[in-house]
Amino acid sequence: MTAEEAISVIETISKIQDEYFISEIMDTWYKEIVVDFHDALAMAVDALKKQIPVKPILCDDEDLTCPTCGADVDWKYYCEKCGQKIDHEEE
Ligand SMILES: [Zn+2]
Repeated sequence: MTAEEAISVIETISKIQDEYFISEIMDTWYKEIVVDFHDALAMAVDALKKQIPVKPILCDDEDLTCPTCGADVDWKYYCEKCGQKIDHEEE
């Protein structure tokens, strides 16, 4: 399973649970657990998105920067600041 596929599965399940559970269990004791679960899923999606390579941004015609956080990523495969995977392949 790729990171993109995992994100799609998590977001689909999360959306179904949002629509069904959150409205049904508003006053039940486990609402807090379900809300925490959704927060945890959102964190997992954020981490998975950083595994999908993205092209660096060329600044001032010389520096390559991370498109996620703006840190310098000259020829690094991962951003040292935020962990974003960087794609340096020429197209
Ligand atoms: Zn970064």
